[in-house]
Amino acid sequence: MNNSTILQKIKSLPTPFYYYDMELLENTIDTAKREADKYGFHLHYAVKANFNEPVLKMLAQKGFGADCVSGREVQTSVKAGFNANAVVFAGVGKSDVEIDAALDLDIFCFNCESLMEIEVINELASAKGKTAQIALRINPNVNANTHKYITTGLSENKFGINMWELDSVLETLNNCPNIELIGLHFHIGSQITDLSSFKNLATKINTIQEWFFSRQIMVKVINAGGGLGVDYHNPDGQIPDFSEYFKIFNDFLELRPGQEVHFELGRSLVTQCGSLISRALYIKNGIKKNFAILDAGMTELIRPALYSAHHEIANLTSTSKTILKYDVVGPICESTDCFAKDLELSETSRGDIFQIKSAGGYGEVMASDYNLKTLYPALYSTEI
Ligand SMILES: *Cc1c(COP(=O)(O)O)cnc(C)c1O
Repeated sequence: MNNSTILQKIKSLPTPFYYYDMELLENTIDTAKREADKYGFHLHYAVKANFNEPVLKMLAQKGFGADCVSGREVQTSVKAGFNANAVVFAGVGKSDVEIDAALDLDIFCFNCESLMEIEVINELASAKGKTAQIALRINPNVNANTHKYITTGLSENKFGINMWELDSVLETLNNCPNIELIGLHFHIGSQITDLSSFKNLATKINTIQEWFFSRQIMVKVINAGGGLGVDYHNPDGQIPDFSEYFKIFNDFLELRPGQEVHFELGRSLVTQCGSLISRALYIKNGIKKNFAILDAGMTELIRPALYSAHHEIANLTSTSKTILKYDVVGPICESTDCFAKDLELSETSRGDIFQIKSAGGYGEVMASDYNLKTLYPALYSTEI
């Protein structure tokens, strides 16, 4: 954000809004693709992390598939240019309407999370005279060592099919002529920075594959999900370590000839390119602390309130040499509506522009209409 043309443009606009550095986005997704291509891995973009049209279009155009968690995500992805035959559809609660929409589009694969879901897809596919390709989302009971709200691969979580259910799943599949089992799917959580979790996942997948091999079942697709984390403390231009991430799977996954490995990355692709831009409305100088009250709050970026997430914050316009400590807060009537506590900033005045960084993933998409505040349209670097 040191570029003065961008800053001039940002200053001229009403706040709050999201700003996207499309060059960084492109570098990030090119890096991911290049590293995955080394091993012939297939990449899907987890649409829920950011479904803004320019973001989706770029990922589609770069040859990514889409990983969707609702019928509207499936439809939106296809509209943005993703090939339906590279769309996967996950989620513990797919409704009949959503399944029908995905069947109509002939998506690549339903990642199924329960026995009952398989039966429902079979019925709906049968009614259309179609065969649905599915993968079993298996709960591998691998700890992702991340925030408990975004851990999804432990047996206590609601996600996936447990190992002890697999015998009855195979029985069910025998009675589902409109279902074709093509893959095994795993997703253990998000914001995973301890890469040994992925090594544990890869070795667990090997064990689970053995179970299937011993029953003469060899699926074509192994989908290892997403979850690669980003460094929220070093946001500027940071590209996650895709090289190490894919290498782990290449080193530790034991594949049979003809098997394909798929991934579903969200956060790692889109987080660092996005920032929430906001103005300081008021400064309250207290006895114990100062408050910088912004025009953005948890309604625009809920991660700090929801997960106690850390975001680096910069005052882009203050030129003061005096450093003071501030609680940087939003205007919402909730004490969790706080972006940072005791943050050292150069002395802040009404009207100063703030950049809340690493907000491209799970930022704008989680904004709500609570309080009916206004979030202005996103600004893309390509428009400046
Ligand atoms: C959310 C999600 C992802 C993406 O997770 P990231 O942490 O953003 O990479 C991948 N697969 C499934 C099934 C998901 O629900």
